[in-house]
Amino acid sequence: MKILIVGGGGREHALAWKCAQSPLVGRVFVAPGNAGTALEPKVGNVNIAAEDSDALLKFAEAEDIALTIVGPEGPLVSGIVDRFAAANRPCFGPTRAAARLEGSKAFTKEFLRRYRIPTASYATFTAADFDADYVRAQRVPLVVKADGLAAGKGVIICETHESAIATATAILGGSFGAAGSTIVIEEFLRGEEVSFIVVAHDQQVIPLATSQDHKRRDDGDAGPNTGGMGAYSPSALVTPALHERIMHEVIRPTLRGLASDGNPYTGFLYAGLMIGDDGVPKVLEFNCRFGDPETQPILMRLKSDLVGLCEAALDGALDRFDIQWDSRAALGVVMAAGGYPDGYRKGDSIDGLEAATRLPGKVFHAGTRLEGSRVTTAGGRVLCAVGLGDTVGAAQRQAYALVDAIHWDLVQYRRDIGFRAIAREQT
Ligand code: AMP
Repeated sequence: MKILIVGGGGREHALAWKCAQSPLVGRVFVAPGNAGTALEPKVGNVNIAAEDSDALLKFAEAEDIALTIVGPEGPLVSGIVDRFAAANRPCFGPTRAAARLEGSKAFTKEFLRRYRIPTASYATFTAADFDADYVRAQRVPLVVKADGLAAGKGVIICETHESAIATATAILGGSFGAAGSTIVIEEFLRGEEVSFIVVAHDQQVIPLATSQDHKRRDDGDAGPNTGGMGAYSPSALVTPALHERIMHEVIRPTLRGLASDGNPYTGFLYAGLMIGDDGVPKVLEFNCRFGDPETQPILMRLKSDLVGLCEAALDGALDRFDIQWDSRAALGVVMAAGGYPDGYRKGDSIDGLEAATRLPGKVFHAGTRLEGSRVTTAGGRVLCAVGLGDTVGAAQRQAYALVDAIHWDLVQYRRDIGFRAIAREQT
């Protein structure tokens, strides 16, 4: 059978690589893909943008694609799954209505409140009803969020009342376009963040291996927020007791709530959670898709057939699917272009990729382009080097051996991905 992966980042390279390993699969297409998916055996790129659902559906019909898996949130939030469903083409992901869990933070906060799922206290405003006195009455820091999709940039942590008011005013004034016509202002939560990702179909659910990512650019979790500078799996923070709590207090009530609102959820569902000192898992955000870079280490550990897993979900047979994991840890280090997450250069030649293929582990591409036989940088996050090992520490060593083999001008990456997990391993 033929598979279509929608997207062109590191997550999509990992999804394509994993699908290509399935004995059920003859060919995997990635739209639009990157240099990594262009070079992967059994995989090839299609020059269609991830947002162009008309062209994607046409391609899926022409090629008789048996399963389409959508990587990024944009097409999901704009309804690609509904579009494919109307044409009877299997497409794995939530419908437009269910994807609002990521598409609108105001919708999600109201949903969480209604179903009593733990989250930070909050208020929502538009330009017409913004109330600076409300802000002044809250404790700082405060978190100001644009309601809609803002490419991971729509969340600003404000240390003072005045900066929260200025930030809110700027977003409502259009600094994020329509995504900021409504804002959420919420309580700042302290603790450690956990990514909890499940595969769901209505109320059937399989939790994936646990993981944690590092969102800040610099070592020690300092510097600006990014799309993610590295991730590892498993997360020792998620003990069996916490796992049970997250399923019971967050995941199941969310799936139940969506179903009873008439929007049952199918697809990967990602809960970004803050675990405070009291151990309560509070929802920071939902994503309606697999995380990036969490996908890369998680799929390195998945022993089961990913295509079989997605098909079981679409068939309502998740309850009978026996998911198998590699017991080793996996850790991915993102290699980014200098300047990321702000302005960065594109078009630099990447050296050492060939040497890296002879090392253990796997280098997934994100913002890369194939120019003749040269692989060049084409985005902020360029590669994710993933190592495996009996401990997170061993996986980290394998990942950094890959990183050390690769170079381009002004490459930047963190040297400490997994440091908290490794400190725990050492005590
Ligand atoms: P979000 O897109 O809502 O997950 O926000 C992106 C990042 O901002 C999260 O991964 C957290 O690191 C941080 N963040 C968001 N909301 C809060 C909050 N209420 N308290 C503390 N940090 C937050």
